[in-house]
Amino acid sequence: MISYGKHAVDQADIDAVVEVLENQFLTQGAVVPQFEIALCEYTGAKYCTAVNSATSGLHVACLAAGVGDGDIVWTVPNSFVASANCALFCGATVDFVDIDSQTRNICVTQLAIKLKQAEQAGKLPKALIVVHFSGLSCDMQNISKLVKPYGIILIEDAAHALGGVYQEQKIGSCQFSDMAVLSFHPVKSITSAEGGAILTNCPPFAEKIQLYAKHGVTRDPNLMQGENHGPWYYQQVTLGYNYRLSDVHAALGLSQLKKLDSFIAKRLERAQVYQKALAYLPLRLPSVEYFATSAWHLYMVELTHHDRKDVYQKLHEMGVGVNVHYIPIHLQPYYQNMGFQVGDFPNSEGFYNNALTLPLYPTLTVTEQQTVIDALEQVLV
Ligand SMILES: *Cc1c(COP(=O)(O)O)cnc(C)c1O
Repeated sequence: MISYGKHAVDQADIDAVVEVLENQFLTQGAVVPQFEIALCEYTGAKYCTAVNSATSGLHVACLAAGVGDGDIVWTVPNSFVASANCALFCGATVDFVDIDSQTRNICVTQLAIKLKQAEQAGKLPKALIVVHFSGLSCDMQNISKLVKPYGIILIEDAAHALGGVYQEQKIGSCQFSDMAVLSFHPVKSITSAEGGAILTNCPPFAEKIQLYAKHGVTRDPNLMQGENHGPWYYQQVTLGYNYRLSDVHAALGLSQLKKLDSFIAKRLERAQVYQKALAYLPLRLPSVEYFATSAWHLYMVELTHHDRKDVYQKLHEMGVGVNVHYIPIHLQPYYQNMGFQVGDFPNSEGFYNNALTLPLYPTLTVTEQQTVIDALEQVLV
């Protein structure tokens, strides 16, 4: 079975992990800070905190944004549940802005309308979490222009998008946002097995991120109250979590980061092959926005004349492991119980109803890709 996504781990990655295992520190050693610095250098962001998943990262980003009881957080339905759950972890309520059917990212026009309505109703969100779906950047400049006047904190869920570019800056630069969150899950751009990171350019956010990800504990005398007992001293100044990444995982991530650009180049190459080969089939192909260069996390098509379940099953029988991203978050039973209904976000639902994720990863061979293309032709024509 050709799977929809797959990590690419080589001997250099294995050696890097083994080196940590043979060393003194498995956690809280030198490798996590090295990984954080390398992520700053790659993305151009000033501060980075590595954490044990993007889900933890999104939680910490919401906490750093000051999200709490009674607050509202907006995100899109077309994402993994973690993009919305992070707000619930903080005691906030979640609402959604529908996507644009073309880009499959947050619809900027609908965001503008919803902001006006929320202002009138006195229900503005504390934070907006945008998702760079499939690795294609959202229209960050215009989104930022819309939310800034209201003081809404803008968080990028960049789990799909490390290695992508927006307006000549790497995604994660936080040029137009307050914070960006990365994932190093094995299907993402690079992997640390499990892992994530939070990027920011803003010192107060960076300080809070450090605290919330590490038990709310600090050794920085400037953050302490009262007397400093001595060199061993630390204080817990807020309620935080243990969301640290281990040095074992960071070693894998750091080694993978060296190959990120070549991974993205291979994904782009494969995506271009799909774009050409599938142009004549009854499918809607991904649109490529002029302002962004996708990290090509997912290559997704929409069926225009066929039943998705039927096509999915036939392709699986032919050894082509297509997948579907995403079941809109507001349709999950947990969210339906909050009052969200079918029909609330028609663009996300319409996309979901016909979407298929084709196999795309750096080590997908030309032969494997041809198998996918041939199978699609056979099923659709
Ligand atoms: C993968 C993913 C996450 C969660 O990442 P983890 O590192 O597995 O916690 C969050 N948001 C999006 C959009 C994702 O694709």
